[in-house]
Amino acid sequence: MTMIAKKWHVALAGPDDFAEWAKAAAGLLAAGTDPAHVTWEMGGGHGGGARDLFGAQSIAWQDDQGASKAELSADLKTLLRLVTLHRDSDRFALAYRLAWRCQAMPHLLRICSDADVFRAQRMAKSVRRDMHKMTAFVRFRKIKTGDGGEAFVAWFEPEHYITRATAPFFMRRFAGMRWSILTPDASAHWDLETLSTGPGSVRALAPDSDALEDVWRTYYASIFNPARLKVKAMQAEMAKKYWKNLPEAPLIAPLIRGAQSRTQQMIETAPKPARHERRSTNVVKTIAERTLPSDAVSTAPSQEILRAGILACARCPLHAPATQAIPGEGPAHAALMIVGEQPGDQEDLAGRPFVGPAGKLLDIALKRAGIAREEAFVTNAVKHFKFEPRGKQRLHKRPDAGEIDHCKWWLQNEIELVQPQLILALGATAARSLLGLPVKINEVRGEVRKIANERSLLITVHPSYLLRLQNEEEKRSAWQFFLQDLSIARNWLDEFGTSLPAHEPATSAHCAI
Ligand code: URA
Repeated sequence: MTMIAKKWHVALAGPDDFAEWAKAAAGLLAAGTDPAHVTWEMGGGHGGGARDLFGAQSIAWQDDQGASKAELSADLKTLLRLVTLHRDSDRFALAYRLAWRCQAMPHLLRICSDADVFRAQRMAKSVRRDMHKMTAFVRFRKIKTGDGGEAFVAWFEPEHYITRATAPFFMRRFAGMRWSILTPDASAHWDLETLSTGPGSVRALAPDSDALEDVWRTYYASIFNPARLKVKAMQAEMAKKYWKNLPEAPLIAPLIRGAQSRTQQMIETAPKPARHERRSTNVVKTIAERTLPSDAVSTAPSQEILRAGILACARCPLHAPATQAIPGEGPAHAALMIVGEQPGDQEDLAGRPFVGPAGKLLDIALKRAGIAREEAFVTNAVKHFKFEPRGKQRLHKRPDAGEIDHCKWWLQNEIELVQPQLILALGATAARSLLGLPVKINEVRGEVRKIANERSLLITVHPSYLLRLQNEEEKRSAWQFFLQDLSIARNWLDEFGTSLPAHEPATSAHCAI
């Protein structure tokens, strides 16, 4: 008698139903079911479950059944969750095949040349990018509700099934307003208390424009810097398909057309460079008087927009004597964000964070701790160099609480853009900005803690503190302590981070926002 292998068919309730998939996969893995014997059906509306193809019987798993037998690593779960949000019709089968193969080969994910791993990583990257675009390009329009109140509605067309997964971001960001995001596949709604999701919708149900659009247009026109215009980079970040839903879109073409003459005009009318303005930053500074409308209802602006906004910032007096503002730099979706205090003398001239003595020491320490700086997003709590002129020198001055708080707006926007899994604060200024209150570094360092918006924060000393120490013994032990803190960051990312962005091949998007 030949044994005929059992075939299983799993019908998932929705196209992005990771939880149901995970439950089914756990049961199938626990039963040792070969992926070749499983077919997956998406959005069948049968309400999840697996049927034996030769009979009516279902796999009777409990929620936790299989979980203890078929452990999926945190890395694998994160990857598979992203994979199952992709529009590829084979996504659930691929996810199960990977889960199955990882049982026998726990290190499979490290083999980037493996066809399944490669494909899954590509899919995850595409989904992550799509989620990021959604957080950047959703624009709400105000409507009047039946009860005389107001609500906000946005229309968005994501590439993948990301609406439900991205909705919590909007809930945190716009906790104080009632909103709905409509997409062709799903909708998300926040009523000030509950986040709910529903079926897809059509564009006609979303309002087209309202007064808020003017705020957006003013904002966009005011931070548009013609001298820094890179049309290709801008279009890569803000692809044309998103333009139709952006109120600022009608401005893009005329602003690009007028960029050259505006740049020329700015150069001609620019004030004389100050002593330390060795680079041609005068163009940037001529628009530094502009500020952002403080009441703009915004999702995280795109990298280009945010960078332009930081460069043009004149929200506090620190911008005047500084050569230029220094925005953060690093991969667009870095797992780790490193936040320093403020640019120093060399950073102010070079236009990049952490390139002076403290930066060089930081580079050595990161290397020792096994952290690749180029995989981290490196930025500062305060974006302009604060100093006191002393003869030909510019002596570093600590930013005060007001300056830190003023600049926090930019740091928070950088965080929203990058969505780091772990933030490493170097020194008291960064810690103050991120915690919102002053702390003693020795009392809070070395422990990963949760801060607002469920972000994870690790605090340690600033490398310039190490540079200032005179006593050799003290220096040695402070250095060891610093390395220990960085290792905590590394280990935490290995254990709890998805580690995907940091481990992606070198092709991953790199941005200097
Ligand atoms: N110190 C900082 O905090 N940031 C820099 O970019 C350089 C030195």
